[in-house]
Amino acid sequence: MTPKFSFVDLYIDYGRDSISATLHECEKVWMVYPPTPHNLQWMAEHRGQHAKLAQGMAVLEGGVVVHTTSAEAIYLPAGCLHAVFTVAGGFLVSMDCTTQTSVWPCGQYLRYNVQAEFEADEQRDCYFLFLEALEVALQNAGERDAFRAWIAVEDVFQMKRKNDRAWVRAARKVWDEYLKSEPLVDIECPCAGAVSSSFLDHLKERHLGWLVDDRRRSRHDMADGDIDIIPRQQAA
Ligand SMILES: [Zn+2]
Repeated sequence: MTPKFSFVDLYIDYGRDSISATLHECEKVWMVYPPTPHNLQWMAEHRGQHAKLAQGMAVLEGGVVVHTTSAEAIYLPAGCLHAVFTVAGGFLVSMDCTTQTSVWPCGQYLRYNVQAEFEADEQRDCYFLFLEALEVALQNAGERDAFRAWIAVEDVFQMKRKNDRAWVRAARKVWDEYLKSEPLVDIECPCAGAVSSSFLDHLKERHLGWLVDDRRRSRHDMADGDIDIIPRQQAA
């Protein structure tokens, strides 16, 4: 329930997509900006500040203004910055979701450390949300976005999540499930680094190796039913 003339300043929904609709007489005006590097950087620099929209309007790029009544729903793709004015009070219903294209903005949200304004637990949740977006992309023909998103943020993951065993295990599970499905084999890696004869070997060695190294250090921590990114005899 939102009263007339209330205002929610610029924020981002943790890197998830959302669909919202007002009910009955409720009307809202949305200021929406795309999650470009410039805009995410700006949000990170203005973490915790007040009057973000007032400060950002002159410098944020690509904004649109949308007026919605109960006749419309608004879909905000993952990572979008938005501020909301309620011009006629009432109820709003919202649903979060993840699509096969959420993984890139979700990763960039973490890359720019926008989540740093939250408590540690909530920040950790954001890293798990990324894995959810990664899985959705990998399992729904969004592999190329998934590879690109993972590789663009893998240094951050290694720095901040390498010792978070539950996260590493969850990441490994997402990749293992992809690799035992029908993975793409014949593509050029987005890192444009030295490519081994096979893309999958390169992916496992160069980009997923540190997840496996973690397993070597902490085999007692393995969940039952884990599948190996590399064959078990090699991991032993
Ligand atoms: Zn690569």
